[in-house]
Amino acid sequence: MKFGGTSMAGTERIRRVANIVRKQAAGGNEVAVVVSAMAGETDRLVNFCREANALYDPAEYDVVVSSGEQVTSGLLALTLQSLGNKARSWMGWQLPIHTIEAHAKARVSTIENDNLVSAMETGEIAVIPGFQGVSNENRISTMGRGGSDTSAVAVAAAVGADRCDIYTDVDGVYTTDPRIVAKARKLKAVTYEEMLELASVGAKVLQTRSVGLAMKAGVRIQVLSSFVDDNATPADDHPGTMIVSEEEMNELVERGEMERQHVTGIAHDKNEAKVTLTRVPDTPGSVAHIFEPLAAAGINVDMIIQNVGRDKGETDVTFTVPLADLARAQVLLDDKAEDIGFNRVITDSKVAKISVVGVGMKSHAGVASTMFSALADRGINIQAITTSEIKVSVLIDEDETELAVRILHTAYGLDADDEAA
Ligand code: ADP
Ligand code: ASP
Ligand code: MG
Repeated sequence: MKFGGTSMAGTERIRRVANIVRKQAAGGNEVAVVVSAMAGETDRLVNFCREANALYDPAEYDVVVSSGEQVTSGLLALTLQSLGNKARSWMGWQLPIHTIEAHAKARVSTIENDNLVSAMETGEIAVIPGFQGVSNENRISTMGRGGSDTSAVAVAAAVGADRCDIYTDVDGVYTTDPRIVAKARKLKAVTYEEMLELASVGAKVLQTRSVGLAMKAGVRIQVLSSFVDDNATPADDHPGTMIVSEEEMNELVERGEMERQHVTGIAHDKNEAKVTLTRVPDTPGSVAHIFEPLAAAGINVDMIIQNVGRDKGETDVTFTVPLADLARAQVLLDDKAEDIGFNRVITDSKVAKISVVGVGMKSHAGVASTMFSALADRGINIQAITTSEIKVSVLIDEDETELAVRILHTAYGLDADDEAA
């Protein structure tokens, strides 16, 4: 069971969480619980690091930001004890949860499960702070924002759990963010592949890595709400959204429990920025000159457009980078101005990426054209496009984000009051 930040925000909420956990344990289950820091706490800690040292050392950043989860795991263990349950907390370094790669964006490599399994066998509830692990150098590491989801899936995989229930502040995965579109519809099930794509293009309900890990390790995930009363449908009866394999989805469709849509969901992401280099030489190798320094600096380029060459053998190249890397990208490009040979760098951070996702696209043509027409009808200009087998993304003006998501939600027949629903 994993509980997110809003679910853990304060002792009153933690008591509600403890009751949900106790119920699951009373049903004869061995339970491990992964918790997030209280809502807003990680942001507060990140700000402290920035104030202390703008160029902070990621290893010390991890020491600071991991503390939010230490507090909530101890508080949940205390609350469970006060209600008469056996419970104890296990810090990332105590289990341990081994991680590799850089601080602040570490990946789980292995989890030693001996301690955990023997504690759980005695009926003790294990409470584990999400987001944190221990590096090869024996230092505290954290797994990137939203990383508690990944901790939960990794723990579930390590103990061979029947299910990984991700409790949050919405009651499942919706066709789009229900806080933006009131007519968003809750999905009974989503395939791993679609959830992975949705998460990677901005649906923050699950961290992208948690879905990738679950897919690889075969962990069954359910997304459900912790904001429920005592009469709510029990988690074992799947009141939330199940993340399933393609085969399971086909069975659900055959049984008439799910309807196959061409588009399953729509996501938006305001965390990208657009960069345009004007008058780049239209010669072999010039694009490589642009992207090599960015790649070497670990900056991910997402959308790319290169215009048709003009008379003078020059062209414009436009691409997007994460907003957080924009300043660094600009410095790198300025440094390489002579090698690349462009005229000007123009940047725009007021952009949003809107994506439509669905496995139905594999076998159905026309999904992209529906998107372009629907946006054109409302005068929304498309600045860049990318596609994958199950996704189409467009870049638009940030101010038009909510409007675009709503228009597309209607255009693909996803609105809750539609016949198709
Ligand atoms: P937690 O703190 O529990 O990890 P998050 O804030 O990380 O919660 O994720 C839950 C939020 O994800 C919801 O409040 C919702 O606004 C947002 N969200 C974005 N896209 C979707 C979607 N397609 N379905 C459900 N929620 C979504
Ligand atoms: N507390 C961390 C964050 O806010 C991890 C998490 O909640 O998943 O990013
Ligand atoms: Mg989250």
